[in-house]
Amino acid sequence: MTLDIPLDDPAVDLDPAQPVPFLDLSLTHAEIVAEVGDRLAAIMAGNAFVLGPEVARFEEEYAAFCGTGHCVGVGNGTDAIELALRAAGIGPGDEVIIPANTFVATAEAVVQVGATIVLVDCRSDHLIDPYQVVTRLTRRTRALIGVDLYGQVADFGTLRAAVPDDVLLFEDGAQSQGAARLGRPAGSFGVAAATSFYPGKNLGAFGDAGAVTTNSSDLAANLRALRNHGGVERYQHDQLGRNSRLDSIQAAVLSVKLRRLRGWNDSRQAAAARYRELLSEHPAIELPEIAPGNDHVWHLFVIKVPDRDRVLAELGAAGIGAGIHYPAPIHRIKAFADRFLGERYPEAEAAAERILSLPIFPGITAGQQERVVDVLIKALR
Ligand SMILES: *Cc1c(COP(=O)(O)O)cnc(C)c1O
Repeated sequence: MTLDIPLDDPAVDLDPAQPVPFLDLSLTHAEIVAEVGDRLAAIMAGNAFVLGPEVARFEEEYAAFCGTGHCVGVGNGTDAIELALRAAGIGPGDEVIIPANTFVATAEAVVQVGATIVLVDCRSDHLIDPYQVVTRLTRRTRALIGVDLYGQVADFGTLRAAVPDDVLLFEDGAQSQGAARLGRPAGSFGVAAATSFYPGKNLGAFGDAGAVTTNSSDLAANLRALRNHGGVERYQHDQLGRNSRLDSIQAAVLSVKLRRLRGWNDSRQAAAARYRELLSEHPAIELPEIAPGNDHVWHLFVIKVPDRDRVLAELGAAGIGAGIHYPAPIHRIKAFADRFLGERYPEAEAAAERILSLPIFPGITAGQQERVVDVLIKALR
């Protein structure tokens, strides 16, 4: 093969190896294009674009997938967390415990319902540390959100035991579709679980989408009202709601993809095992830990390396799409910093300096992974 590279462009990597994207969805999309096309044609003919039969169908399928009684589709994962809290009556005066290391949305949702965020540090596997939760309980603690960070379920058994019975547990399962803990599916922990179908998640739509799964009929009914202007009947608004509905096109895409999710997660697991093999001999690299009892679905493959920013820059220069999830814990994010003045979360802070997410997606090839590892090991010399 000859490469047609303009030699005067310094941005072009002259290495004959191909760049490796952080996430390549083209392989999964090639599998579903025909089926999605048929479903979209049916939606156009049926004239129901928001909620409607496609949404009801997907909600049933996803509830069954999670082993819950109900699934309520909403506009995105951030709304899913916020509406789950709101439906359960969490609001001003309440304290909600969340991990210091999570995507900003978990924190935003707590603030949006008017409650107060209480942060807790993580363990070395990046999951919230139940033993430190105990030290942050007060009379006002009303809820705790366990986040299934990077694709493995938080330690909900120990979390449940760590807090009084009247503290409600919620699951932020935006990164864990298809994962399980002690055989129990992600999306089934706590009184309600929120998830996101942002295109880059393990189960991703063709735009923004999200859902709440729960076994509580009361919470589900409340959520169905909250997402649709406070009522389920047209022009009946029993409470203050909003517009955060799942649309039929996203539901159809998700329904088609859901049937392949197990296979796609298997492919991520195989890729994670291959990275582990390729990287195991390297003393400078800390590999991701899997908590005992967890079926990890590798939304992200996050290693820890010294001199991370330089390593990331070298990967980028060689055409390897790597990332940082996330560059700052919640108390170090500008929009939140003044709420947590003087607070320290040592594990989350130290991790933020060293974490590096390598490319992982269904269908990533051994060759692509070897190329990532080659460049990474050269950068660490
Ligand atoms: C993606 C994500 C969210 C938010 O989902 P959106 O659909 O982007 O609003 C919330 N929590 C976590 C942990 C996420 O990864």
